[in-house]
Amino acid sequence: MKIDAKRFLADLEELGKIGYHEGQGVTRLALDDADMRAREWLLDKMEEAGLKTRVDAAGNVIGRLEGRDPEGKTLIIGSHLDTVPQGGKYDGALGIVAGLECARTLAESGTALPWNLEVIDFTDEEGHHFAGTFGSRAMMGTAAREELYGSKAEGAPSLADSFERVGWDPDNIDEARRDPSTLRGYLEMHVEQGGTLERRGIDIGVVTGIVGIYRYVIEVEGHANHAGTTPMAVRKDALVAASPVFGLLPEWARARSDEMVATIGDVAIKPGAMNIIPGHCRFTVELRSLVAEDMARVRDRLDDWLDENVPDSVMRTVYEKDGVFLDEELMSHIHHAVEDVGVKGTSMPSGAGHDAQSFTPFLPTAMIFVPSHRGISHSPEEYTAPEQLVAGARVMMHTIKRIADADAP
Ligand SMILES: [Zn+2]
Repeated sequence: MKIDAKRFLADLEELGKIGYHEGQGVTRLALDDADMRAREWLLDKMEEAGLKTRVDAAGNVIGRLEGRDPEGKTLIIGSHLDTVPQGGKYDGALGIVAGLECARTLAESGTALPWNLEVIDFTDEEGHHFAGTFGSRAMMGTAAREELYGSKAEGAPSLADSFERVGWDPDNIDEARRDPSTLRGYLEMHVEQGGTLERRGIDIGVVTGIVGIYRYVIEVEGHANHAGTTPMAVRKDALVAASPVFGLLPEWARARSDEMVATIGDVAIKPGAMNIIPGHCRFTVELRSLVAEDMARVRDRLDDWLDENVPDSVMRTVYEKDGVFLDEELMSHIHHAVEDVGVKGTSMPSGAGHDAQSFTPFLPTAMIFVPSHRGISHSPEEYTAPEQLVAGARVMMHTIKRIADADAP
């Protein structure tokens, strides 16, 4: 079973023109005009390929290739067409176009699969309106109805606003829900969004899990005072009190594991003037790892250090979301598919969240990564070489084939 590499790349190029602005990359914010045009483009392509199409109550675009038993289970190949503002043409789109090409190839060959195959573009993966991965979570029944009415910033549209704008009813999202027992599994191909594969000269990442994220805000109290008349000995400088953490936190993370990352991404001091001693310092801490215990240990170390060294500080938990492990059986099919195609693969965690995460608690879920040049994503400079894109799509095709062979009666 061979995909048509030229057609696959041409589709990706064509899709990349929707919402593209010279020098500014691709902007398809969920449910904006460009995203709606991309959805129309996808529906046309799916219909041309002979897939049965529909848009569900959460706005997810679905193309279905029926298997031997249309009443039987369904394997989902998903990702998203929406982008961040001024994003690239691969993040999300690649997984959809690869899925489309695999379904089209299977449809053309007349192969009867042991399950139905659905290629799905999920609504608002990037969280333009609210929390992200909305469509995939709605499908698993884990998107809260309140999310429809929240918006990220004042004046920004809520999902309900955007649904109404495009003529959909936001009150029906429960109808998008699928019973996990009717689903065989979930497969997603995506750009790595990091530089590991390229650095190691590897074509395919077989994703072992999606890292967890722990986030905290720390507030340190000092005394704002005159920078010229307050001697050093009597100062209570909030920034100076907090600052050792900026160097210690990365060290603690490195000492804990090679895979863990720790970031102080936002620091604000008050009043914030050249001639005033900082009276208040607020900073954020984000920890990411597949291993919850590693994050918990670094969190505790930070907490202890603050207690001991900065008594006038408060550490507040924003959230703690543990990582998820992907399905061993599907992973092993991908590893075999990598061998079938004759490229180099490796196991690796994903440092970014994806629609796949919405499915992990409910069904066998797996992800295939292709390299991101210089590790860049969410940027017009996002790039993956054509031969690497094709290798990824071929691995996806062989993975579907291998799962089908294993499941065939
Ligand atoms: Zn994505």
